[in-house]
Amino acid sequence: MDRQRGFMDRVAAMGGGRYEIVTYGCQMNARDSETLAGLLQQMGYEPARSREEATLILFNTCCVRDNAERRVFGNVGHLRARKREDPRLVVGVCGCMMQQDGAAERLLASAPFVDIVFGTGSLHRLPELLCQYLEEGRRQVLVETDARAPIAEGLPAVRQSGVQAFVNIMFGCDNFCSYCIVPYVRGRERSREPRDILHEAEQLAKAGVKEITLLGQNVNSYRASDGTGFPQLLRLLDGVVPRIRFMTSHPKDLSDELISAMAELPSVCKQLHLPVQSGSDAVLERMNRRYTAEKYLALVEKLREAMPGIGLSTDIIVGFPGETEQDFEATMELDRLARYDSAYTFLYSKRRGTRAAEMPDQVPEEIMKERIYRLIAQQEKITAEKLAAFVGTEQQVLVEGASTRDKKAWMGRTDSGIAVNLTGKDIRPGDMLQVKIESAGANTLRGRREE
Ligand code: SF4
Repeated sequence: MDRQRGFMDRVAAMGGGRYEIVTYGCQMNARDSETLAGLLQQMGYEPARSREEATLILFNTCCVRDNAERRVFGNVGHLRARKREDPRLVVGVCGCMMQQDGAAERLLASAPFVDIVFGTGSLHRLPELLCQYLEEGRRQVLVETDARAPIAEGLPAVRQSGVQAFVNIMFGCDNFCSYCIVPYVRGRERSREPRDILHEAEQLAKAGVKEITLLGQNVNSYRASDGTGFPQLLRLLDGVVPRIRFMTSHPKDLSDELISAMAELPSVCKQLHLPVQSGSDAVLERMNRRYTAEKYLALVEKLREAMPGIGLSTDIIVGFPGETEQDFEATMELDRLARYDSAYTFLYSKRRGTRAAEMPDQVPEEIMKERIYRLIAQQEKITAEKLAAFVGTEQQVLVEGASTRDKKAWMGRTDSGIAVNLTGKDIRPGDMLQVKIESAGANTLRGRREE
């Protein structure tokens, strides 16, 4: 970071400006945008109140979702006329998509008005790129392809919420699930050192944060240079803030030691997002997931034995290449047995550069859709039954902020991760309250603070 400080000072001396960051994709990207905002603010930039006011617009892209490239290129393209009118506007594009094979070249060719392009591994070098662009007026492009690039520590951040915060504990992924582009664009797994994570968590606690979510593509395979694994990391962080969550967990790496740590540690929420993706062993093998449906269900049983009230959620892909009706029925069966609190269901879609994109027997869209509707209907029924069981109980809820649906209510979450809209006197974000659950909706609970 020392090298970047000089660039920061040089940019700040130019008078700063106003910025807008447009973020696509997952929590890891949202966390990256907090760092980008932190860097920009240290260079004298302030958040723009509207796009018209912005003097610098940065698109932090994602390439995981379907049609991502078309959408991002379209949105960047809207700035073409604006840049013609105001050549001083700085336009930047960064994030996962820029690491994808050929995407940066395609963008640079189709959008000559884009001034700065960089990948996920070069985030910390924004000051250098911005400074060189402003001083020389030449387009700056930096897409590192070193899959094992070291982690930059000590970066500033502008946090989005005062109550909760995301903390990256590792970057990259070694798993190469056959449908996923992440290992190609985020590189190999690299874990942060426990002392750096602890320091960040302590700083957040001092700033009033009550809940941190530890982030990584597969947190279960966290391994620091001194051998500290994920269960030990949780033990180290326990008590620093009242609540700790984490995501994402690969089932193949969910150890007994981790289950014990979750069950024992008071700060660790009894909630787990455990993507299953399919209930068919044949499909799981083609996905390169390295577990069977039976092994997965055994994990669910162990988790519920250790933590009876645990909140469980999952991801399921419907219509993976070669998925037969029988394979899909196996997924329906697993969904019934696991009885998730919620499930994120996706239609399979090809990702350029992945092995699954080359597989034969791609499933026709109408069949995929018919299957996903059946799965959603089944899961909605399970979710409704599970939420209804909360009515009349008392839950400890951490208040996150105002409810977006009801101006008179607050929104918080139970330890198991269920959203609760609540009412009552003298409630403030960050309060940990006992709440009487009065009714259940499709995805949320409704309650009143116990006086
Ligand atoms: S674990 Fe699989 S799905 Fe998750 S990021 Fe890694 S390759 Fe992608």
